[in-house]
Amino acid sequence: MTAPIVGHLDPFFFEVVEAVHRDLRTVYGTANPFVFAISGTGSAGMETAVSNFVEPGAKFAVFTAGFFGDRIAEMGRRHGARVVRCEKPWGETFSEAEAAEFIDRERPQVVAFVHAETSTGVLQNPEWITRPAHAAGAMVIADCVTSLGGIPIRIDASGIDVAFSCTQKGLSCPPGLSPLTASPRAIEWLRARKTDPPIWYLDLKLITDYYEGQHRYHHTAPITMFYALREGLAAIRDEGVEQRFARHQRWHVEFVQRMRAMGLEMYVAEGNRIPTLNTVRVPEGVNDVRVRKLLLEEHGIEISGGFGPLAGKIFRIGLMGPLATKDNLDFFCEALEKCLAGAPAVA
Ligand SMILES: *Cc1c(COP(=O)(O)O)cnc(C)c1O
Repeated sequence: MTAPIVGHLDPFFFEVVEAVHRDLRTVYGTANPFVFAISGTGSAGMETAVSNFVEPGAKFAVFTAGFFGDRIAEMGRRHGARVVRCEKPWGETFSEAEAAEFIDRERPQVVAFVHAETSTGVLQNPEWITRPAHAAGAMVIADCVTSLGGIPIRIDASGIDVAFSCTQKGLSCPPGLSPLTASPRAIEWLRARKTDPPIWYLDLKLITDYYEGQHRYHHTAPITMFYALREGLAAIRDEGVEQRFARHQRWHVEFVQRMRAMGLEMYVAEGNRIPTLNTVRVPEGVNDVRVRKLLLEEHGIEISGGFGPLAGKIFRIGLMGPLATKDNLDFFCEALEKCLAGAPAVA
């Protein structure tokens, strides 16, 4: 990120952009020509997806069982969509039968779901939603903010039409860009759109004209963030994307065993867990804020707590990128054990 900053129309910058797009296709698991890194964090990608693919007045079905599903629904509302929500308690997934029943009843034009729901630690099987949605002729948007770079998404195989993500989670980069991809079918849909997307800054047609072809100036890309993303993706390529996914899975399995050995329980049912974002129940009688404060102050480890209906009930523990190693797991488990016992550790 300390490399010299070139201009936003410099040929070198577009070489960097090309490398970023190529490697993003690999981590997304797609051959989609349409891949961009939107300027802004994950929420900018979310707003790009909603404002470009959900026209005002369109029926928009959102599957939500957590905080980020609610955010998508809220964006749909602000963009004038007719939002219908399929809701379940935080921590659950949607079965194919449930998704089919809802979609058949509501007949939406666009459907959205969260692949990895960061507020709960739940992983949703994309095909359980894409299959019934496609059968009803609807397009599918997936929030892959927490999953990209951490676990396989396999956009093409899973039938996701539009996906967005961020740089600061599974890709282990600084925050600032939102990798977005859209299928050829979604792009056709976009071209057929009758009205301009209401947010000029996130208009994918204008963004395409900037990054491709004649490189017509639209906005100034955050050059430094592209350098960071390029390096983050190169690190993934060096390790091998499948090897990285396997490493995350391996240490997740080990993590679960260690929690069990400490008498702790996972919040999410086995089979529905995000390997890179582990949610552990706060044991009875334990003050989660105090434990997290001790972890940070005595050991320099930051984990998150639950919020909304899960406030005080779960710990949210990231195990991704350079953190997913035996050494880090040993370090963390030892520290957690001490903090749960309430004993200030010796630094
Ligand atoms: C973090 C997150 C977002 C929002 O991303 P920001 O980078 O904070 O804007 C959206 N969806 C999910 C699932 C997330 O985890």
